[in-house]
Amino acid sequence: MPNQFFLTPIGFLKGVGPDRAVLLEKELGIKTFGDLLYHFPFRYADRSRYYKVKEITPDLPYVQLRGTITSLNVVGNKPPLRLVGTFKDDSGTMELLWFQGVKWMQKLLQTKTEYVIFGKPTVFNKKLNIVHPEIEIVSPENVLLQSSLQAVYNTTEKLKMKFLDSRSIQRLQQTLSKQLPPVLPETLSDELIEDLKMLSLREALQQIHFPENLQQLQKAEFRLKFEELFYNQLRLLMQKLVRTEKYSGRKFSVIGEHFNNFYKHKLPFQLTNAQKRVIKEIRTDTGTGKQMNRLLQGDVGSGKTLVAYMCMLISMDNGYQNAIMAPTEILAQQHYRTISKLADGSGVSVALLTGSTKSAERKRILQGISDGSIHILIGTHALIENDVQFKNPGLVVIDEQHRFGVEQRSRLWSKNSEVPHVLVMTATPIPRTLAMTLYGDLDVSVIDELPPGRKPVTTVHRFDSSRIRVFGFLKEQIAKGRQIYIVYPLIEESETMDYKDLTDGYDAITREFPRPEYHVSMVHGKMKPAEKEFEMQRFIKGETHIMVATTVIEVGVDVPNASVMVIESAERFGLSQLHQLRGRVGRGAEQSYCILMTGHKLSKEAKLRIDTMVETNDGFRIAETDLRLRGAGDIQGTQQSGILEMKIADIARDVHILQAARNKALDILTDDPHLAKSKNERMRSKLMELMKAIGNWGRVS
Ligand code: ADP
Ligand code: MG
Repeated sequence: MPNQFFLTPIGFLKGVGPDRAVLLEKELGIKTFGDLLYHFPFRYADRSRYYKVKEITPDLPYVQLRGTITSLNVVGNKPPLRLVGTFKDDSGTMELLWFQGVKWMQKLLQTKTEYVIFGKPTVFNKKLNIVHPEIEIVSPENVLLQSSLQAVYNTTEKLKMKFLDSRSIQRLQQTLSKQLPPVLPETLSDELIEDLKMLSLREALQQIHFPENLQQLQKAEFRLKFEELFYNQLRLLMQKLVRTEKYSGRKFSVIGEHFNNFYKHKLPFQLTNAQKRVIKEIRTDTGTGKQMNRLLQGDVGSGKTLVAYMCMLISMDNGYQNAIMAPTEILAQQHYRTISKLADGSGVSVALLTGSTKSAERKRILQGISDGSIHILIGTHALIENDVQFKNPGLVVIDEQHRFGVEQRSRLWSKNSEVPHVLVMTATPIPRTLAMTLYGDLDVSVIDELPPGRKPVTTVHRFDSSRIRVFGFLKEQIAKGRQIYIVYPLIEESETMDYKDLTDGYDAITREFPRPEYHVSMVHGKMKPAEKEFEMQRFIKGETHIMVATTVIEVGVDVPNASVMVIESAERFGLSQLHQLRGRVGRGAEQSYCILMTGHKLSKEAKLRIDTMVETNDGFRIAETDLRLRGAGDIQGTQQSGILEMKIADIARDVHILQAARNKALDILTDDPHLAKSKNERMRSKLMELMKAIGNWGRVS
């Protein structure tokens, strides 16, 4: 229920005025009182004490001092000018510096007046100083603002130029806070608020900006974070509920010849316990008559493809067709080879449809799909084109889901009036919290066990300067009959710079590894699919020793004899990408190696990424670190999820709150699936509002 107070234009707030209103909107998206209230502090500064000048060292965080300015001088005679003030208290003197608003500050500041200043000590020109301190005259009114925990707000350079720094925003918050209506409409049910002993919305909004003490602040944070996460979960779980009510699914009621024959006669090894468990989960799910939407997580090489195939066999046993959608042509081809091998001699008919399928072949495949004679169709985006019409689709497997948007996934659906089950496979482990917020409407299965006998990949970090020794090591490995990947970064397939890196690299490698003793392949994004395929094939067949490539080999490519992965300019890759690449080796029985090459100069973050890779092979741990380093916003797939709109919750850190929110949302929906009970009325209307804002919520994702 939109509240009038919240919707009041920000220009009506005392101290804002038309110019500032425009700026606040442009810079921070603050249009209304509500927007300002929900512009939360990004941290709190401790202003419970005053420091003395003689105590100040450059490694202190923000400090507060009290004293006078004894001199003010503009330094320099043409821009950039700077204003240098000498600040004095009873223990000594230090410098204050301004590089912006020099003239203005010079006019504004007075000597002999007592000021409170607040800022971060730094060293400039070998002198200790505070640059652009917050500064104000000591007065009873200002002292009031100084509770021990001071909110610090994000602002921008433009806002600061108009004197809307953190402190001014705090003042606006104070004005607004005094005007808050005595009762704000609640957004959570009374029951829920009582249950979790939460602050009311009004109290929370006040405490978050002006905390009385740490405890109250923590309570306010909990209330606001909980609310954000709760509605995220309620929405996802509601979506799932709507979907199961709207669509009925295929019921896989029997296990028949296809599955049994394969299991008894063709399965070349024992399934791992994790594989067995997941097959059982899927089998149960697809047997209910409700449509399955399941995310299958498992590290590279954990045997997801096999699980998917066995589930397709169950689907076929019930008379249905299947599809596998892969993000790249190479992967589609590889799935095609793998699946064809598994299906060999069993009467299962498998076809491959990609952008480069010839038109006669394409026609034949489309025919087979619509008359039901093709049982498994493997392909790329080509599968979601309109003329691909399955007679009887039972299970759709989507590999490496993060490359397909929700939009594309739903297109796969809408063409069929009858809804197949969907299994989304990902080899990029997603931290539990992220999975819950991104795919909270999917069920999740995890293969957390590698097939036996795998040796963990040994990972090392080498600087470019030890390249000669690295080459020596590669030669030893080749002499032992192994094959090698050397990967170059290619952030955008079109970046000519990177392309040059790659070809230069290729030239250097062929010089170091000359024919006829050595053979080197190269694959990159600018090649035609047929050329790529040809080069890949040479490597897969063992005709070449080294594969020089860009990240096109990132996902899924399976060459068990390749045992060394060299990653050039490893500092330019993200963690999950590095982990993906490493997963290309360690697939055979031999000890495998991953060599991360970098220059000597590394940023702190790059160093942390490299160290993490050297330390662990655990994909989930790597994913957690990745999430913490990059934040949720940068992780693929989060764009559509609403995570980006989260104002206060941080899914990398607020794991417990998220879990609590999900549990509560589940409890409430179990008790009242349509939120029809009057005690849930508030939550129902808030949810409707949210869903309307997000749009398309009824669509299957
Ligand atoms: P993923 O798709 O999870 O990366 P794959 O399904 O491609 O993994 O399996 C990797 C390799 O492990 C394949 O060569 C596959 O045949 C093999 N494999 C799968 N399951 C098992 C198992 N239970 N025991 C031994 N090898 C297995
Ligand atoms: Mg795979």
